[in-house]
Amino acid sequence: MQSKVFELIEKEMQRQQDTVELIASENFVSENVLRAVGSCLTNKYAEGYPAVRESGNRGRYYGGCEVVNELEEYCCTLWKQIFRTDYHVNVQPHSGSSANLAAYFSVLRPGDTILSMDLSNGAHLTHGSPVNFSGKLFQTVFYNVDAAGYIDMADVRAKALAARPKLILAGASAYSRTIDFAAFAEIAKEAGALFMVDMSHIAGLVAAGDHPSPFGLADIITTTTHKTLRGTRGGMIFCRPELAKKVDSAVFPGTQGGPLLHVIAGKAVTAEEALTPEYREYIHRVVRNCRAMCEAFVRMGYQVVTGGTDNHLFLLDLTNTGLTGKEVQDELDRHGITLNKNCIPGETRSPKDTSGVRIGTAAMTTRGYTEEDFVRVAEKIDRVIRQMIQLRKKTA
Ligand SMILES: *Cc1c(COP(=O)(O)O)cnc(C)c1O
Repeated sequence: MQSKVFELIEKEMQRQQDTVELIASENFVSENVLRAVGSCLTNKYAEGYPAVRESGNRGRYYGGCEVVNELEEYCCTLWKQIFRTDYHVNVQPHSGSSANLAAYFSVLRPGDTILSMDLSNGAHLTHGSPVNFSGKLFQTVFYNVDAAGYIDMADVRAKALAARPKLILAGASAYSRTIDFAAFAEIAKEAGALFMVDMSHIAGLVAAGDHPSPFGLADIITTTTHKTLRGTRGGMIFCRPELAKKVDSAVFPGTQGGPLLHVIAGKAVTAEEALTPEYREYIHRVVRNCRAMCEAFVRMGYQVVTGGTDNHLFLLDLTNTGLTGKEVQDELDRHGITLNKNCIPGETRSPKDTSGVRIGTAAMTTRGYTEEDFVRVAEKIDRVIRQMIQLRKKTA
């Protein structure tokens, strides 16, 4: 049967091959991940969990689960190996947002207070934004970054002691510096709060040893599997063993029905790949490439939030170019370069326009780009931006 869908998939594949992909949350998965996610496992219902895990789960609600039980157990074992941890892991969340929803529900009640980072400072929508369930269900207090763009730990402590939140959250979608999980844990202890880390963006760096690990410090850790981890689209929750039962019931039956077993298979393949020395080497290259590209922008006179990067991404502050993030994003799209507009700390424009763009190196490093390649892309972006500024002057 002719299907329009496969034509569209072919077109999208072409687009992905023809563009320079700098969206910091994207990556390219392996053929094996695609095969697992496109497999017959999508046919299987398996509400529940493999029997008798540390959480005391009593098994599935359907028959025929022998194989998928083995698969899910295997997946969990690998992920614990990757992060060298004895934390409990739940691999069923459908996405990063679903993982955060279940993580909150495992320890919070509606109306409880969360202390997290402000969205315009680089946090994620699910960290308490008023347009998201997290902001509608919970009281949120936000900590800020300092004038240089770094997380202001004195502000975190002051707000933790004043607001006495039930939970303190660390982790971000657009923060280019190392997060001091140990300092957060210390403050959480002092304030009598639970400590949760959302390591969605940096999980690959944690796995490879390029970012300090939150394991041993945080009570709950959530992540996506499709960003620097370079796997199938999905989420996971890790927690201290004593929270296992609460986390598992918050995922199912709390917030989800049947798990996506084809996606869990994809997560297991992702884990097999992340355990290899080649993957660690890949992440080291992502970080080196990011620093090289960021330094190129600084040399060319651009404002970079915090002046640099410790991880796989950085933020260009376009304020003194007079251009918005949206204008630059759209123009670069026409030049085959894909990135996203992003708010900068102290943002004065609407989130639809923004004063910045976010740039990440995880995807193109998978494609084999070297430091020199990334510097060349930075120079091309600079040429496009300078043309835009000139055109603006002429028409003004
Ligand atoms: C990407 C991201 C999420 C959400 O992941 P989705 O799979 O898009 O729902 C949550 N938290 C952080 C910090 C993220 O960067």
